[in-house]
Formats: sequence, structure tokens, C-alpha cells
Amino acid sequence: MRDEIDQVLISRTQIADRVAAVADRIVADLSTSAVTIPAIGNGVGELTLVPILTGSIIFVADLIRHLPLRMQLNMISVNSYPGTRTTTTGTPQIGELTNLPDSLVGRHVLVIDDILDSGKTMRLVIDQLRSRHPESLRSAVLLRKDRPQAAAVPIDYVCFDIPDEFVVGYGLDYNGYYRNHPEIVTLLPHIIEEDVT
Ligand code: 5GP
Ligand code: MG
Repeated sequence: MRDEIDQVLISRTQIADRVAAVADRIVADLSTSAVTIPAIGNGVGELTLVPILTGSIIFVADLIRHLPLRMQLNMISVNSYPGTRTTTTGTPQIGELTNLPDSLVGRHVLVIDDILDSGKTMRLVIDQLRSRHPESLRSAVLLRKDRPQAAAVPIDYVCFDIPDEFVVGYGLDYNGYYRNHPEIVTLLPHIIEEDVT
């Protein structure tokens, strides 16, 4: 994998430090809400994290270990239309959302994605979650690209702003590969040149 990497944009330690700092902010913000009250059994006042599969898995796994709060995880999927895939030219066409909870009444919800690019995914998911009437709804992304479309979507917690380049690693893939790479990197042009038109 090493010989396929062009640039390391964000190192392991930079990621670890920033994820911990963002987690502290999330805890501080939630502490003014009722999330720390003892459970009364129906989820009211509790925290529900809604990570968007698959790219957010490593971010979420690291983030939640810095959140000493009673919580549930409700992973959701945003299915791309058949025949599309993660390419360097960006987002597949967004299809149907799966595994959304029926009701979020009374819950504090934090929706989490890997990267904000066109912002379409987050907009769609936030709209769908809001229609389920959570007590509060916040959003977090690991990365936000330097694009007007991304800046137009308000996100509560952004770990890193990055240039408008195709990146992989720390959960992000290229055609299903590189998710296990521990840094955020760009790939050498010859690795991705099949997509450049
Ligand atoms: P958006 O809906 O904001 O355009 O797209 C978000 C989704 O597109 C991300 O969850 C991710 O799956 C994919 N994506 C956008 N930019 C990149 C990128 O630079 N690298 C990778 N690996 N995926 C990306
Ligand atoms: Mg994604």
C-alpha cells in the first residue's frame, strides 16, 4: 500500500489528537442536555449516535471511546444506485436509506459521516432524522472538503478541513480498498487514472 500513496495529508497522531478534542466538545455540549440522567427505560433523554456506513466506522470507533455517556449506536446505510461506486470523481448517486429508526422522539441524536463533499448525503440524512422528531440533532464529520457545496451544509463538529482532493484511509475507500490505512492520504495518479476523463 505504501508505494501507492502520494501525500499524507493527516497523520495518525493528528487524527488521534483531534478526535479526542472534538469528543471533549461533544461531551461539553451534551452536558447541558439531559443525556446523563439515569435511564428510565424508554430512551427519552438518551443519546443515539447515527453513523453512516461504511466510511465512518473507524472514526466512530475512536470517537465513542472518548464519550463517557450512556448511548446507543444506530448505524445506517445510504445505498448508492446499482452500478455506481466510490470513484475519484466523487459521490455515487444517492439511493435509499436503510436501518433508520422509526422514532427518535425524546432522543439526542448525533449523526456522523466520514467526509462532507457535495453535502448531499448529510442533507438527506439530516432531513430524514429531523422528520423523526429527535429532542436534539447534531452532526459530525471527520473531513470537510474545500468546496462551496460542502460549506453550505451546517455541521456542528468538523475534525479537519481539507483541500478538494480525493482521499482514502481511516475508513475512506477507493473501490472498496484502503479503508484500513491509518492516515488520511492521497493516491498516486497512476493508481486512480482510470477514473480521470
Ligand atoms: P457527499 O454526499 O457529501 O457528496 O458525499 C459524501 C460521500 O461521498 C462520503 O460519505 C464518501 O463515501 C464519498 N466521498 C466523497 N469524497 C470522497 C473522497 O475524497 N474520498 C473517498 N474515499 N470518498 C469520498
Ligand atoms: Mg460515505
